[in-house]
Amino acid sequence: MSAAPDLVCSAKRCRATATYAVVWRNPRLHAAGRRKVWPACEEHREHLSTFVDLRGFLLEVVPVDALGPDDG
Ligand SMILES: [Zn+2]
Repeated sequence: MSAAPDLVCSAKRCRATATYAVVWRNPRLHAAGRRKVWPACEEHREHLSTFVDLRGFLLEVVPVDALGPDDG
């Protein structure tokens, strides 16, 4: 049994278990240091990270195991 529930991919209509986390922040909405997380499956990692990267919001893409307690 794992300690944390599995994260589900944030892509529309995708129910896959997320293995990556797209970490991003919108400077107009979020304080510096805030880290928004979109869980992403292998298939949608590229799509979701590109979406925020095009807007200049992408901070990093990490495996979900590497998320810290303040991420979310
Ligand atoms: Zn997905």
